[in-house]
Amino acid sequence: MAQFSQKVTKIGVYTSGGDAPGMNAAIRAVVRVGIAQNLEVYGIHNGYVGMMDNKIERLQLRDMANIIQRGGTVLKTGRSTEFMKPEGRVKAAQHLKAFGIDALVCIGGDGSFRGAHALWEEHQIPCVGVPGTIDNDIYGSDKTIGFDTAVNTALEAIDRIRDTAASHDRLFIIEVMGRNSGFIASHVGLAGGAEEIFAPEGNTTVDKALDRIKEAKSRGKTSSIIITAEGQKPGRAYDLAEAIRKKSGIDAKVSILGHQQRGGSPTAADRILASRMGAAAVDALLKGYCDIMIGTEGERLIQVPLDLVTKHEKKAQLDLISLANILAT
Ligand code: ATP
Repeated sequence: MAQFSQKVTKIGVYTSGGDAPGMNAAIRAVVRVGIAQNLEVYGIHNGYVGMMDNKIERLQLRDMANIIQRGGTVLKTGRSTEFMKPEGRVKAAQHLKAFGIDALVCIGGDGSFRGAHALWEEHQIPCVGVPGTIDNDIYGSDKTIGFDTAVNTALEAIDRIRDTAASHDRLFIIEVMGRNSGFIASHVGLAGGAEEIFAPEGNTTVDKALDRIKEAKSRGKTSSIIITAEGQKPGRAYDLAEAIRKKSGIDAKVSILGHQQRGGSPTAADRILASRMGAAAVDALLKGYCDIMIGTEGERLIQVPLDLVTKHEKKAQLDLISLANILAT
């Protein structure tokens, strides 16, 4: 964990990478805790894109009114390849220094933290990260902002689909988000009573899924649900349905939940997590700590060096999938 000695009087806050419900609650906490500590707080729009384009404005207490319950991010977010080059970061650092911004709070995923780490290494701009991503795949934190909301949003849809599956005695394959990570799939699979869960970390095969479904049928079960994470190629549910049809003749219906999992009003858990993490990020900067992320270990907030966060992967727990398999009999 790095430390810096210069006094902090002006901080910048930005959201970067994919949006996640609860990011607004984190921004609100940074702004209001910062102002309560007599800091000037600046909002940087569109992540690193706005940092390079000088889209920076001072935020006041009332700018944060009525946003805790809103999904998305009022500061907007962005992705930039220009910022990944040293010249892009020089431009960004010049704008930050022109505003007199001493330190930053970055709300985003591991890519955003790599950018923050580079700003510290190359331009000595201290930054604390707050993990905001629906995928929950950030090393060093049990939970990320937006995950709980995304799981609950997907679960609501699955409950509705189960009504139809049961009424028509059907097999449904439901695709949830998670390109490299099966956190959403394993959690909604267990909570939604799915018969089988395909996660990037898992080892389930179509044959194993079919065996499970056939066994359940022989015990009198007439409808089933399979949850799959989208994986590297969104639309994977269609490939699974086709493989199942070819092997068994079963006509599985497909539902892809898609981007609705990203939006929506954050759950209480996400609002509380975001508020605590945003406040802890400002607190860490005031104590002279930087190049770290605020994470959770159980209920406790912890500080994790960004270098660790960005160099390791966090994998979904396969025990949730095994439990879902046992319980959906
Ligand atoms: P999510 O997991 O929700 O996609 P993320 O923060 O991982 O969030 P990325 O698109 O990977 O999203 O990163 C956001 C931005 O951070 C990138 O568009 C880029 O500008 C910056 N960034 C990513 N990696 C680096 C890097 N190695 N060096 C400098 N900047 C980076």
